[in-house]
Amino acid sequence: MTPVSDIYWHISGYAIFWILFAIAFGLFAQRVYFLFRLLRLGRREERSQNLGHRIKTMLVEVFPQWCNLKTVTRQDLAGIGHSLLFWGFGLFLISYIIFIGLGGGFGLSSVLAGSTFETAYSSILDIAGLFVCAAIVWAAIRRYIIRPERLEASFEAGIILLLVITLMVLHFCIEGFGYAAYNISASYPPIGAAFASFLISTDISESTLVAVYKGLWWLHYAIILGFLVYIPRSKHLHILASPFNVLFKSLAPKGALNLIDPEKAETIGASKIQDFTWKQLLDLYACAVCGRCHANCPATLSGKPLNPREVILNLKDHLLEVGPQLLKGETPSANPGTAMIEDVLTEEVIWNCTTCYACQEVCPVGIEHTVKLIDMRRNLVEHGRVSPSVAKALESVRLLGNPWEQPQSARLDWAEGRKVNLIQDREEVDVLYWVGCAGAYDPRSRDISLAVVSLLERAGVNYALLGTEERCCGDPARRMGEEGLFQMLARSNIEVLKKYSFNRILTHCPHCYNMLKNEYPQLGAQFEVVHHSQFLLELIHSGKIKLQERQELRLTFHDPCYLGRYNDIYDPPRQVLQAISKATMIEMRLNKTKAMCCGAGGGQIWIQSEKGRRIEDMRFEQIQEVDAQVVATACPYCTIMLDAVAQIKEPTGKIKVMDIAELVVRALAQ
Ligand code: SF4
Ligand code: SF4
Repeated sequence: MTPVSDIYWHISGYAIFWILFAIAFGLFAQRVYFLFRLLRLGRREERSQNLGHRIKTMLVEVFPQWCNLKTVTRQDLAGIGHSLLFWGFGLFLISYIIFIGLGGGFGLSSVLAGSTFETAYSSILDIAGLFVCAAIVWAAIRRYIIRPERLEASFEAGIILLLVITLMVLHFCIEGFGYAAYNISASYPPIGAAFASFLISTDISESTLVAVYKGLWWLHYAIILGFLVYIPRSKHLHILASPFNVLFKSLAPKGALNLIDPEKAETIGASKIQDFTWKQLLDLYACAVCGRCHANCPATLSGKPLNPREVILNLKDHLLEVGPQLLKGETPSANPGTAMIEDVLTEEVIWNCTTCYACQEVCPVGIEHTVKLIDMRRNLVEHGRVSPSVAKALESVRLLGNPWEQPQSARLDWAEGRKVNLIQDREEVDVLYWVGCAGAYDPRSRDISLAVVSLLERAGVNYALLGTEERCCGDPARRMGEEGLFQMLARSNIEVLKKYSFNRILTHCPHCYNMLKNEYPQLGAQFEVVHHSQFLLELIHSGKIKLQERQELRLTFHDPCYLGRYNDIYDPPRQVLQAISKATMIEMRLNKTKAMCCGAGGGQIWIQSEKGRRIEDMRFEQIQEVDAQVVATACPYCTIMLDAVAQIKEPTGKIKVMDIAELVVRALAQ
């Protein structure tokens, strides 16, 4: 018998049930509508294409909790606890709809009571309840006793843990008191039935059992309704928002930035919260405050002011603060202390990002941090609010076609004294070798270009270079927020590339690789692009490059962000190294998806923050932790950064920093 069918103070239990429900649901709907209106303050953005694929992705990531489980490591098992909580509490949510909603509210409890379905589902809930309790206790111990740096021991987090465990305890008590009150003797559900047997064996009177049962039932119902009201008003809004955030996440290549038309756009980038798109605002609701992003952010770890979690939370607070005024048509930016750039996020924070993608790679709910930071950079650049070093690098790209402040005429100087094939002299080539600015101008990176050319020649590849027709691919300009300059460079490069006939573009720079492969298609140019780690592996496997017998060389590999996280190329460089050395490759503590950035990306090679430690120093210390003779990498930026540290920290040359191409050259058979 459901307590709803009783009369309380001459009022029908059904009336009380529905009035409470209407109040709670009204408050829930009011808040959700307000949040929805705030989203509509954002700019338009098309995120509904490929809906079938999106739904499938969401179902795969959210319900089996792949979004959380993918981040589980031996050191951090929190994803397992969250998954148990999600599945267990999910079963309880369904039970609230069936047993409270349909059973209590619609008077169907007599149909459900004693049915096999009720017994089976309640038994499953008993087990799920135990798992949920265990997960809650584990979460509380981690958050309030162990206190890992990434988790906040906040009051709000405590409330939710307390509410959920209270609901679990109430579930067991309602079963026990309910069965005992009506003298139902059963073996299932196991915990409820066992508790009921215990209560029956005591001297508690039937009327007391009935009264306690009804009291607990209504308390249970009130807490569930309280939950409904509380969730959209709390940090746990992510429970509602994150499935939609995963549903609408970008389908573009990882980290690809939005293409804007600098001539036509009303605003360049974002200086106000309403300059973000609705999806960028939805990101703010979806944050679970798990801290995984900042625990993996090289800027945060090195003590710089940027903290990607705080970026998201500060923007969310700002949206909630200024949103009501914006909805009324007022301009909050006129009020002191409400400027998004400076009061909410400082320029320093915005420029600290190396665009390494570590935050996005681990974020379980698909939040896009870097796009927001770069949108703010775009606005700063548009208004000339850049440091002298950023201005100098951008000026060099604009005037000279490279950020190294070298003339375009010197682009081929690295090959001086050596015969190289130029595409202008050829009708058709198989491979167009894109050297990149670092490979053309930076003294350390020139060695990599020479190594690649030696290998192409040794393997008899029909290759050629663009020579002085090649210009910066646009990666530094785009990542530093100079979208117009990026588009100018990209269009000019595309025009040049389309003049010639080749099958593939080969590049040893992951930044160039990413631009040519993933971001030039935004401008209508589709090229087949191959990174030299993949290409060298092909040449080794095909026998076009013959290596001497494998040496005993202790190697470790530093994953470049734009090769690994951006393009999921983790194995080819390692396989190249395995072809060279018979010693087991040594992995660093932070490798592959978790590899720490070298500190150069996103224009940082030219910016260099004065706050905190240097990221490249921290990465080099991780290299020193492993007993390697050589740290291999596959990116000129990484080579420049790490080699500079090695010169200082290992002047005896105990640890060498080398590109994989240089290592392959050293290992060539005579
Ligand atoms: S992209 Fe890298 S540096 Fe930038 S916020 Fe994310 S983790 Fe930090
Ligand atoms: S942004 Fe993502 S990774 Fe960072 S705290 Fe929020 S949910 Fe966690």
